[in-house]
Order: sequence, then C-alpha cells, then structure tokens
Amino acid sequence: MGMLNFEPQVCGKIRGYIGHYLNSELLVETNIEVLQHLSYCQSCATFYQEQIYFLARLKETLSNVEVPESLENRIRSSTVLEKPTALGKVVSFFRARFTSRIW
Ligand SMILES: [Zn+2]
Repeated sequence: MGMLNFEPQVCGKIRGYIGHYLNSELLVETNIEVLQHLSYCQSCATFYQEQIYFLARLKETLSNVEVPESLENRIRSSTVLEKPTALGKVVSFFRARFTSRIW
C-alpha cells in the first residue's frame, strides 16, 4: 500500500482534515484515518504539532488578556479549547509523541 512513502495527495487531504479533527467534527472513521496517518507521516505530524502549538499559544493569550466576558465566551466557543473530547485526544497524542517538547 506504500504506507511508508510520502504521499502528497494523502497528506493534503489529511491536512485539510486536521482543523475539523481538532473541532471533533469528523466521523469516527475519518478520525482514525487522521491518527493513522499522523502515526507514520512525520511531515503531517509536524504540521499537526504546529496547529496545536498555535492553539496553545492562543489559549494562553486569551487567558492573559482582559476582554469583555461576552466576547471571551464567543471566542472560546468558536475554538476547540473548551471542548474536552478534542483536547483529550490532543493531550494523549502529545503524551505519546511529543512528551518533552511541548507539554
Ligand atoms: Zn502526511
């Protein structure tokens, strides 16, 4: 199946999924497809890591900036940050792969 080779079309598809994955918007089968791809594709795993890093910085920024509560709630509700299922998956992914680098 060529699973260990770089596959530009597959990588492009997976990267298109990652934002939706982080928002828990994908079907279970698609989630699995993303996770399986990230488990062997270092390039996409790095891309994924960068998305998480960005979200972590965004969360940090939001928690440090004084904003009206209603605005903050709107911002938070539009991101993955307050969704425990997505965050839980992210955390376990990082425990497995990037333990000492980010968390
Ligand atoms: Zn890839």
